[in-house]
Amino acid sequence: MRVVIDVHCHLTDDSFINDLEEVIVRAKRAGVICIITSVIRAREIPRAEEIVGKYRGYVYLSVGCDPTVFDYREIEELMSYVERKLPEVIAIGEVGLDYFLVRDHILREVQKSNFIKWIELANRVDRPLVIHSRSAGKYAIEILMGRAKVPVVMHAYDGGVSHAEKAAEKGFYFSIPPTVVTSDQKQKLVKVLPLENLLLESDAPVLSPKRGVRNEPANIAIAVRKIAEIKGVGVEKVIEVTTENAKRIFRLRL
Ligand SMILES: [Zn+2]
Repeated sequence: MRVVIDVHCHLTDDSFINDLEEVIVRAKRAGVICIITSVIRAREIPRAEEIVGKYRGYVYLSVGCDPTVFDYREIEELMSYVERKLPEVIAIGEVGLDYFLVRDHILREVQKSNFIKWIELANRVDRPLVIHSRSAGKYAIEILMGRAKVPVVMHAYDGGVSHAEKAAEKGFYFSIPPTVVTSDQKQKLVKVLPLENLLLESDAPVLSPKRGVRNEPANIAIAVRKIAEIKGVGVEKVIEVTTENAKRIFRLRL
């Protein structure tokens, strides 16, 4: 039945080192036709190249930086990698703000200025942005508004629903992880946002539908059923709209 796209996960994570092949097989069986894996540390680059090389045409690459990284050399390394590796890099992300882990005001200012540099890079290389905004949804949206000239995907957004609604009106997208089966906030988000603004992501290995268990791309099928139920539409409709969104935003020719 289904052909879904996982727009955000981390296949370079060590937890996939021993059984990535089976993870990919299960994803394909669940109807996942494309996976976008996100590199957020410079040390992940060799493994990401290996994976993208092995699963060419199935796994695509997004490059950003963990917002809790403050080492400017690493940030520069990741940014110059993006410039060097276009067109293989199909998106910038995840990048953004993390106010859950970073509480210090001065560090938050540095985080903001790093975030703006990533937005400017995305504009320059014309790639969509995938945004991390843990406990900082409202602030990330504020920074993006007016600055981002490319499509914006708020990934695993945990902020207020009213801010999300305003962002959606401005054309922002929201990718919904499998935790939608248990999270009230995610369910509320799905309820208020138009289906036209939604995408699917696993964020594997985290955000599993079952707590404490490693997540994997195949699980986005679980999110699809929940979204269909919340929206009161058929599963097919959710698949159709989210897949078309992903193809258009990430310019995927599948
Ligand atoms: Zn992530």
